Amino acid sequence: MASTTNAYAAHAPKSPLERTTVERREVGEFDVLIDVRYAGICHSDIHQVDEGWGEAIFPMVPGHEIAGVVSEVGSSVTGFRVGDRVGVGCMVDSCRTCDNCKAGLEQYCTGSGMIGTYNAVGRDGKPTYGGYSQAIVVDENYVVRIPDGLSLDVAAPLLCAGITTYSPLRHFGAGPGKKVAVLGMGGLGHLAVKIAHALGAEVTVLSQSLRKKDDGLRLGADHYRATSDPKTFEELEGTFDIILSTVSAPLDFGAYLKLLKTDGALVNVGLPEEPISLDLFSVINGRRTIAGSLIGGIAETQEMLDFCAEHGFGAEIELIPADRINEAFKRILASDVRYRFVIDASTI
Ligand code: NAP
Ligand code: ZN
Ligand code: ZN
Repeated sequence: MASTTNAYAAHAPKSPLERTTVERREVGEFDVLIDVRYAGICHSDIHQVDEGWGEAIFPMVPGHEIAGVVSEVGSSVTGFRVGDRVGVGCMVDSCRTCDNCKAGLEQYCTGSGMIGTYNAVGRDGKPTYGGYSQAIVVDENYVVRIPDGLSLDVAAPLLCAGITTYSPLRHFGAGPGKKVAVLGMGGLGHLAVKIAHALGAEVTVLSQSLRKKDDGLRLGADHYRATSDPKTFEELEGTFDIILSTVSAPLDFGAYLKLLKTDGALVNVGLPEEPISLDLFSVINGRRTIAGSLIGGIAETQEMLDFCAEHGFGAEIELIPADRINEAFKRILASDVRYRFVIDASTI
């Protein structure tokens, strides 16, 4: 039988989130029902509620950083049992048959496209609703296991912020002997610092100011520089192998490309709502690469969770009750987050 769960939803673009209920589908043969315990607040949730990326589906229950416990499994589920600690990230389905899906790159599915955890339409033709809720039903192939060493609250943000930074850092070769700059130290950026450090790279944070310098160094950065200081751009020219931009607003990428070595790569994961313009001289000089990256596949998400558990870290979080979601949105927009808001789902 389908069930009803408490949730927080925006009922129209840019409107505040309010308590409501949504229906979850009956637990199918291959589904697991998850008792949501924690849900991280990603800046993408704000872009989508604001319709900053184009037309969206309302009412919208955001949330794609979900950590919880399995409370029921379908008759053919083999990977999970009741009581397992699990996570769900940004996607709940994809075509499963295209080359990308078969290669574990479900986020780049060329068949149906990946089906988002919210603001998407599921296989049943109904809108998907995300993790700002107390329960969710997900096909077991899109569920990952949270290792014992990680508590669920600090694990939740890994499901988007963690994988979104881990995947490109791995793909572009962050590791010993590599100089990595992390641009923007918010939810994604602070995890990028921890992950790049754990991978063995020399890490520099490029932040708007030095306000969060002590935190950056504590999280594993070797250097911390302010982008408001013009000297940063003069002194660091030609320094980095990789710059990972996690900035949510449009930037002058040309200025940052100059900070790369020959053959260096600026990998962008931030998704500002407006296009940027680029001085192409900054790319052709030094044969530089500008690249993008979208979350990560399911197997890689599991790999990332195991990596974080092995290295003993989750996210730095501020745990909030659900009635503070709207205030948290405002603080994220003001770059006032240290470093991820996580909703205690019991308060929904
Ligand atoms: P966040 O917590 O708000 O962090 C963004 C950081 O960017 C801020 O903390 C700030 O860092 C910096 N920043 C903000 N406005 C800026 C400006 N005008 N100029 C320069 N720097 C600025 O956001 P998040 O949750 O980490 O997400 C970051 C972006 O990634 C969002 O656009 C989000 O939609 C996107 N995203 C993409 C993917 C993907 O798959 N590619 C996945 C998740 C999220 P400082 O205070 O250190 O300067
Ligand atoms: Zn996200
Ligand atoms: Zn596919």
